[in-house]
This record gives sequence, structure tokens and C-alpha cells, in this order.
Amino acid sequence: MKKLLWILGTTIVGVLWFVLVTVIGAGISMAANIATRSDTLPAIENILVPVMCIGWIALIIISILMWKRWKAKCPVCKRWSALKLMKTEILKQEDISVLVELKHRDLNREVTGTHEQYIPGKRKTYQDTYKCKYCGNLETHTRIKDSSSV
Ligand SMILES: [Zn+2]
Repeated sequence: MKKLLWILGTTIVGVLWFVLVTVIGAGISMAANIATRSDTLPAIENILVPVMCIGWIALIIISILMWKRWKAKCPVCKRWSALKLMKTEILKQEDISVLVELKHRDLNREVTGTHEQYIPGKRKTYQDTYKCKYCGNLETHTRIKDSSSV
């Protein structure tokens, strides 16, 4: 959910950048036309598109880097890019049934239909321990991963 908001924010900044470059470009063009008293389009038009594209690429790179830094934010000292993964442990492991979709094929290997079946699998609960490199605060996150054993 937060990731979606982040992408939305990046998109909005991208659109603002587009508007800004267009407005500034139009302004410079008009000023140049008035100064030279001509109706021919000045060379500024040709550099607008590359400037816009470079801006967008830079924006996307900065956005991804900031996202990574923000994801590793320490909740105690509030510094960004602070948490480092120390260790990953398996807390528990359970036997589960995993629903999989199996394909029916004819002699030509064409798929003729599917059916669903439960097959045995494993559910592993992992615990990741992160340590803040500034204040030493320890953070733990648990995550669950299912896998079929067949
Ligand atoms: Zn910290």
C-alpha cells in the first residue's frame, strides 16, 4: 500500500516536471521570438525533449534509491538507510496442503483442460533480525513462505 503511494507521488512529480519544462520552454521560445522579431522556432524546442527524458530517468532513479533508504528506516532514531540484516532464522516449519493447478495435455502436448489438486507442502516462518547501524536498535520481522514439496 505504501509502495503504491510512493509510485503515485513519483508519477505526480514526473507530471509536474513535464509541465515545468513545457512552460519554461514556451517562455524561452516566446522571449526569443520577441527578441529576434522572428516567427521561426528557435533551437530551444529541440533540447526540450532530451531535457525532459533525462529529468524523468533521474527522477525514477532517485525515487527507487529513496524508497530503499526509507524502507531501511530505523523506527527509534528515525535515520534512513540505517537497518542492516543481521540474520535470518526459521522459527517454525509446518506441513500444509498447497492447492495447485494441474494441466491436462493431449498427445500433441496441447492443454485440453485443468484441474485443481491439493499436494503436500511446507510452510516456513522466517524471522529476519535487523540492526540499526547508528543506535544499535534491533528490529525483527517475521514472514511466511509456502512451498510445495513435489
Ligand atoms: Zn537507530
